[in-house]
Amino acid sequence: MKIGIVGLGLIGGSLGFDLRSQGHEIFGISRREKTCQDAIDIGAVDRASPSFELLETAELVFVCTPLSVIVPTVEQLCCYLSSDAIITDVGSAKQTIVNACQSLWSHFVGGHPMAGRDTSGLAAAQSNLFAGTPYVLTPTECTPASALDKLTQVVQSLNVEIYQTTPEKHDRAVAWISHLPAIASASLITACMEEPDPTIRSLAQTFASSGFRDTSRVGGGNPQLGCLMARYNQPELLRSLQRYQQTLERLIAYIEQADWDALDGTLQQTQKTRPAFLQSIRR
Ligand code: NAP
Repeated sequence: MKIGIVGLGLIGGSLGFDLRSQGHEIFGISRREKTCQDAIDIGAVDRASPSFELLETAELVFVCTPLSVIVPTVEQLCCYLSSDAIITDVGSAKQTIVNACQSLWSHFVGGHPMAGRDTSGLAAAQSNLFAGTPYVLTPTECTPASALDKLTQVVQSLNVEIYQTTPEKHDRAVAWISHLPAIASASLITACMEEPDPTIRSLAQTFASSGFRDTSRVGGGNPQLGCLMARYNQPELLRSLQRYQQTLERLIAYIEQADWDALDGTLQQTQKTRPAFLQSIRR
């Protein structure tokens, strides 16, 4: 199949590697000539160009730009693609994007690979990034069944676990497991950095080990991605943050009141439930 990828960064480049290895012909679009050449050189695409004209014969196009650029990209794509071509995106928030894109292009299907890395750009792209991870598709009642079937077949070849849900449910669920953790982790790093005594701050930094590395990891990721997730999933992120704040206040109260039984009860419960919550994570 002739497949286009717009935005040759971490996700776009990684998709290029895997889809190309399945025998698809991959056309890449990047704003910069250098990225186009790099993508060809490392084998992520067969051909690449800054011009959308390259996609005139594409049957399926993955839009892998930052969230804020997905809708404008689809607007531009409409002038170049054949009318039966399918457009999908990989954005980390779905409701706003799917609403806008499906009114621009009838054969649009929203998608979100639940895989990533802390680094960004084409240099961070890798083969098999998606293998064993969930890939969420978010069709609506307007999505043509033929477009969904064709995209499902292609995505399946990435060795992912495909899930289908509505854009609304997607955004609500990812707020809990992706967007809230990023903000909570960022606030942890910020609070530590705001320790007023420089000696203590320095000691804390010296003593930090695997626990702090794990809990601070997602707060130390790509700031542009974090801000865009918050902007594009604002209501659901706020809902989860407010719930998180209430939980934190409850735990603070247990500690203030020296209610160790109540604290122990909560920690017993989290120790018990975490493995079940994480059982689907393979890597
Ligand atoms: P990335 O590595 O920064 O790649 C994005 C690419 O889009 C860049 O390489 C850039 O390529 C292009 N781009 C940037 N700004 C643009 C603009 N204004 N106009 C046109 N193109 C532009 O980011 P990513 O991590 O791959 O994320 C891409 C998408 O995947 C986002 O929508 C994100 O929500 C989603 N996603 C990310 C992750 C993750 O963990 N990173 C996971 C799942 C989904 P050029 O500069 O060469 O044009």
